[in-house]
Amino acid sequence: MSAKLGEQQRLRISEIFYSLQGESRSAGWPTVFIRLTGCPLRCAYCDTEYAFQGGEWISLDEILAQTAGFTPHYVTVTGGEPLAQKNCLPLLQQLCDADYAVSLETSGALDIAEVDPRVTVVMDLKTPSSGEESKNRYLNIGDLKSTDQIKFVLGDRADYDWARAKLDEYDLTQRCEVLFSPVKDALSATDLANWILADGLQVRMQIQLHKLLWGEEPGR
Ligand code: SF4
Repeated sequence: MSAKLGEQQRLRISEIFYSLQGESRSAGWPTVFIRLTGCPLRCAYCDTEYAFQGGEWISLDEILAQTAGFTPHYVTVTGGEPLAQKNCLPLLQQLCDADYAVSLETSGALDIAEVDPRVTVVMDLKTPSSGEESKNRYLNIGDLKSTDQIKFVLGDRADYDWARAKLDEYDLTQRCEVLFSPVKDALSATDLANWILADGLQVRMQIQLHKLLWGEEPGR
């Protein structure tokens, strides 16, 4: 019983660090990032492959204590794919109970229905060039709140056209904020900006701020 309880209270963690939020509506805000280990996907452009394995088992109490040490307002739970570990859900709940502004970055492949409603969900829809389009769980779209965000990471014009079709098919811009982000070194940010303007899309374009500041350095 006690061993089982202990397992329920832990998560495998790749890193906990303090940085500027590089993406989403909260870009630029100082934020504590809690990166959970493991991901069932293998996106072609993945920049956190180091989080696929390894990491360290840490109790929820200790994760909360480390987070509090930074005295943040914003906390982001990310991965890997955080929802691949079931104890991600109580972690999110406890972070909300501690009155942080909590966001969850998720691939869109796993069920988001049980995520605490106080959490801002930033959910990917995987584009064709990611190689993981088949993993999209479109049922999640019905569980998104108006305060959540859907993110498309675009590698080429074909991805852009695909994303534009998804906007129409699921009426996404009426559901929540939609983010379009170019894959670094694959798609010109200027081209993407021009396409968005030419088509009059009501989406928010973003460039990963942390990569402009610190490159590919882990823990940034
Ligand atoms: S879902 Fe995220 S962490 Fe997983 S492979 Fe894709 S980009 Fe990497």
